Amino acid sequence: MASYTSAGGLRIVPPYYRQCATTVKERWRNRLLLDVLTTEFREFSEDQHLQRIKNNQITVQRRIKQQTLQLRQDQLLSERLKQGDVIMRRVHVHEPPIVDAEIETVYEDEEVLVVNKPAGVPIHPVQKFYYNTMSAIRNKQVRKVYVARVAGDFPESAVCNDDVVIVETKRGPRDGIDRKSATTEFKRLKYSSVLDESIVECRPLTGRTHQIRIHLRNMGFPIVNDQLYRHGILATNEDYSDPDVFERIAKEAESSRKEQLTDQFCKECDKQLFKAPDPAKLVLYLHAREYYHEENKWAYVTEYPEWTKI
Ligand SMILES: [Zn+2]
Repeated sequence: MASYTSAGGLRIVPPYYRQCATTVKERWRNRLLLDVLTTEFREFSEDQHLQRIKNNQITVQRRIKQQTLQLRQDQLLSERLKQGDVIMRRVHVHEPPIVDAEIETVYEDEEVLVVNKPAGVPIHPVQKFYYNTMSAIRNKQVRKVYVARVAGDFPESAVCNDDVVIVETKRGPRDGIDRKSATTEFKRLKYSSVLDESIVECRPLTGRTHQIRIHLRNMGFPIVNDQLYRHGILATNEDYSDPDVFERIAKEAESSRKEQLTDQFCKECDKQLFKAPDPAKLVLYLHAREYYHEENKWAYVTEYPEWTKI
């Protein structure tokens, strides 16, 4: 675990350096490094990439006859990339802050680690969340039952078979749509007529990214505080493969990203810095409450979160 500081309900990891190795992709072959960096690693401008090459923050490892050569500086400006080359980048990593909360270990043995994860703590080890992510649950054999707090009077029980469509606006309309079949079973546990909100048990039979959030949105019962699928740019279920829709969403995503930026830049790496998020907006009323082995070798149940008391 990296060191972190706590401030204003957030857990903040100070920026740190990491060496990133990327093997040259087919479409990068026979191109100049600077050209590839400028088109594929867009967090920096061409000038900044050039500066980074000159400072040895970017090098290329090339294997020639059992030997690995390190290409650097001026060599990199004239040499074209080849199959098998590895681009090494020294990257200043700025992790997004997460909610500051205790992580309770529910169960641990050689095979499995079960933790009661506070909302807003990412659980999948995405590169971006290198240190802030807890050790992975060995997902393959672990099934989970979730509890969610949703808007509206949810039916007593329901099943949703909608395809889960993930939109990644940065990847463009051709590659930015990922559609997968999915099934979730739902059961209403409680309804509050005062709030017009329901507590719902969710059993995903497939494990797609954002599956429960998307299914609940599609059914018209979004998670109460979902900043993406209720209050955000993906609040309505539209045909995202329609180029016009995709373009509109991409524009909205870009402008909401810009709203998050400050006018300050990192002194180390020159990246534009993000505002501290509102901790309340990082919390999502969706919680994995039960974990069980798919062959029923074991099961673990955690407490209902406070927000289920409606
Ligand atoms: Zn930096």
